[in-house]
Amino acid sequence: MADSEKRLEQLVERLREYGCRITPQRLAILRILTSSENHPSAEDIYEQLRVQFPTTSLATVYKMIAMLKEMNEVLELEFRDRSNRYDGNRPYPHTHLICLRCGTIQDPEQSELENLPRQIALRAGYQLVSHRFDIYGICPACQAAE
Ligand code: ZN
Ligand code: MN
Repeated sequence: MADSEKRLEQLVERLREYGCRITPQRLAILRILTSSENHPSAEDIYEQLRVQFPTTSLATVYKMIAMLKEMNEVLELEFRDRSNRYDGNRPYPHTHLICLRCGTIQDPEQSELENLPRQIALRAGYQLVSHRFDIYGICPACQAAE
């Protein structure tokens, strides 16, 4: 089973425990979230959802995201100048690669940085709560298109 399918099953189970009824629409939102590698925005999810459910609303997507946030099952990446983006597969802080040209957001295959926040916090006597580490650049596809 693919990782995204495992994650989907896990989310469905968690939501059921939480008392949330899994409607076909909600399931479709979860599937889009877990199968997407590009950290979709709520609008991106809505556009994909509308193919299957033409009468759906953006509010439905936002409600689902709000519920997942409450359960700490989605990571929200906030931006000042563009839409927030979501990672439904790794709902904890981690490194992201962000393309300044096309807006793609990727998880690096491996990151040497994952243990760093803990070490830095510990050294400064902080109790670590969260961290944010974004690497901005031009992705390989955009470089090739130059
Ligand atoms: Zn790009
Ligand atoms: Mn991510």
